[in-house]
Amino acid sequence: MENVVIVGSGPAGYTAAIYAARANLSPLLITGFQDGGIPGGQLMTTTHVENFPGFPDGILGPDLMDRMQSQAVRWGTRLVETDATAIDLSQRPFRITAEGRTIEAHSVILATGASANRLGLPSEGQFWSKGISACAICDGATPQFRNEPVAVVGGGDSACEEAVYLTKYGSHVHLIVRSEKLRASAAMADRVMANPNITVHWNRQVADASGGDWMGAITLRDTTNGATETLAVKGLFYAIGHTPNTRLVQGQLELDSHGYLLTKPGRPETSIDGVYAAGDVADAEWRQGITAAGSGCQAALAAERWLTHHNLAVTVSHTPVDPEPTPATQPSAAVSDESNYDPNALWQKGGYALRKLYHDTTKPLLVVYTSPTCGPCHVLKPQLKRVLDELGGAAQGVEIDIEAEQEIAQQAGVTGTPTVQIFMNKELKQQFKGVKQRSEFKAALEQLLGVPA
Ligand SMILES: Cc1cc2nc3c(=O)[nH]c(=O)nc-3n(C[C@H](O)[C@H](O)[C@H](O)COP(=O)(O)OP(=O)(O)OC[C@H]3O[C@@H](n4cnc5c(N)ncnc54)[C@H](O)[C@@H]3O)c2cc1C
Repeated sequence: MENVVIVGSGPAGYTAAIYAARANLSPLLITGFQDGGIPGGQLMTTTHVENFPGFPDGILGPDLMDRMQSQAVRWGTRLVETDATAIDLSQRPFRITAEGRTIEAHSVILATGASANRLGLPSEGQFWSKGISACAICDGATPQFRNEPVAVVGGGDSACEEAVYLTKYGSHVHLIVRSEKLRASAAMADRVMANPNITVHWNRQVADASGGDWMGAITLRDTTNGATETLAVKGLFYAIGHTPNTRLVQGQLELDSHGYLLTKPGRPETSIDGVYAAGDVADAEWRQGITAAGSGCQAALAAERWLTHHNLAVTVSHTPVDPEPTPATQPSAAVSDESNYDPNALWQKGGYALRKLYHDTTKPLLVVYTSPTCGPCHVLKPQLKRVLDELGGAAQGVEIDIEAEQEIAQQAGVTGTPTVQIFMNKELKQQFKGVKQRSEFKAALEQLLGVPA
């Protein structure tokens, strides 16, 4: 029986965990994996976070989330790295299903955030990952976008940030805005308007995309008179807002008309006693890392008071009282070359290792294509290393940074990061795009190794 289960690992979930853990409640945190975003939440998909207090020179989103996770774990939070697949609030204790097991809890903090919206274009399926993407930060470095015109759709902060970011890669960036003004903050809007490599198309909607194997153009519709025009672009990046991840509690908790969890203004309590909301899942207005973190704190303190009031809290004691400091982060491994290539290493980096292993190894070879700013890659890499560890050297892995090794990425047909390809005897056996469960990679490798399912 758990005191409190926290669902979600964005700033709201980790802050709730830090407070609950320091209150000796030994919280269990279900990080999420794919269903409503990746572990670490939305800040894993951004680069520099310049407005989170305490980091005067800014901090990368994935680094900030790593620090929050370490702080939560240091104080005794237990992590379950998977999605919650069901939440039953109709009886007490509450029941949460994850990884096929049922977890019972006296209280629950919902910090499931929000997921990126899609436009639902007629040809969206055809061009998804072949021109259309919902994450410029993850996919911008893909070779197909280099020195080509690309478009971003949206008028808020995310759209503006992505448009500016994409000028690093594309020859020109078109920002498609549905109305006649940007909803972004004044500072962000000024950066866009001052950038000669960005053209803003006001009063335009994207009607569809077209092309061959890869997207080549989009059709724009003028929202004032319905006239259409074609814009030649190789990329279309969605930045059109988010939908709150409340599917699992629909019909159980009060939601607003957009699906956000309803709470009393400024408070974390939901419509069921002992169930709390934190972060973007209940906030259609502020949607910031710091506001999510603040509400995570409120939710944990409220849960602690409620558990204590109902005499339900079973606390743990820490010995020593102050836990050990978090271990220093390991420096990332060097790119392999003639001097340090190891034919038996479990994990190496770079094109040299890839070419050698591709030709020489008789084991399954797992290749992960990443880019430096890709948060999902950051999530996936430790999972892949764990799979290789579990297989005890029966398979090997190589990481290719597509920004540093564009030619390899092009030859491999990589259209976004993370992409994983599994080779055996110089033959491509399987390809995975995006973050997948560890078990899927393990099963694919075990199949090649002839391990019975
Ligand atoms: C591109 C971009 C840039 C941004 N830049 C900034 C910035 O510079 N500064 C700033 O303050 N804010 C920024 N934001 C906003 C900020 O990221 C969000 O406000 C904040 O992350 C919300 O935190 P959260 O914890 O509520 O939810 P999220 O960060 O959305 O996290 C939700 C978590 O819930 C998990 N989850 C979902 N469903 C389930 C499930 N079924 N089971 C288990 N877990 C689940 C997800 O995996 C995820 O871990 C940015 C957002 C974006 C998209």
